[in-house]
Amino acid sequence: MLAIDHVGKTYANGVNALERFTLDVTPGEIVAVVGGSGCGKSTLLRLISGLDTPTHGNVALDNTRISSPHEKIGIIFQEPRLLPWLTVADNVGFGLAHLPKRERDQRVTQALARVGLSDKAKVWPRELSGGQAQRVAIARALVPRPEVLLLDEPFSALDAFTRADLQDHLLGLWAELKPTLVIVTHDVEEAVVLADRIIVMRPHPGRFFEEIQTADLPR
Ligand code: ADP
Ligand code: ADP
Repeated sequence: MLAIDHVGKTYANGVNALERFTLDVTPGEIVAVVGGSGCGKSTLLRLISGLDTPTHGNVALDNTRISSPHEKIGIIFQEPRLLPWLTVADNVGFGLAHLPKRERDQRVTQALARVGLSDKAKVWPRELSGGQAQRVAIARALVPRPEVLLLDEPFSALDAFTRADLQDHLLGLWAELKPTLVIVTHDVEEAVVLADRIIVMRPHPGRFFEEIQTADLPR
């Protein structure tokens, strides 16, 4: 269980990016967080990921407080952020250095097959299209088998066809490993397609959050 308990963030410049944000996400659940620019979505993901610490409140995964980046929590950004000096396969295997080579190779091969990029293993990131590169980023985030995967506007840089294709890939991968997904997006349609539950964040002071259950909507 991912428990976000009355979390707030005030930046050094005095900006109150998030106030008393509370949310429990059950294992395997897909939650989308939607809202306009500047309402604190990226801040929320950085706090859950441990890349940043809250000013008040607490983020916990299975009752363990998250205060720094954690192997059980993966994150995918809008841009793939691949390492240009490593091949696609080495990018995917980058976080698996602690595993024996055989297991590492096996997981990388499987992950690339799942995102339909088996033929790109030996290729350099610069030779990939935007959509292919983001599929590599998804594979890289999932090979450590995180309990929670955070996605910050993961498909918003892509055209509509590629976006739909990647949404399919993501749901396919999710169905095998069933990680908890928290997806930040300003694309309400994407939220409806992907999520079990949608959290709407409001930018005004004394901000409040609304929840929409999508269980009755077709995926
Ligand atoms: P969103 O992802 O919804 O666009 P952000 O979480 O990026 O919102 O930003 C929320 C607010 O916090 C904005 O007013 C933004 O300018 C501010 N902010 C974000 N990051 C920082 C930072 N590192 N330092 C200061 N202010 C920040
Ligand atoms: P993204 O949503 O692409 O991850 P960021 O979260 O880094 O972008 O930034 C979102 C907003 O926060 C932007 O408006 C940016 O100008 C502002 N911001 C980011 N870092 C800082 C900072 N150190 N000081 C002030 N504002 C910041």
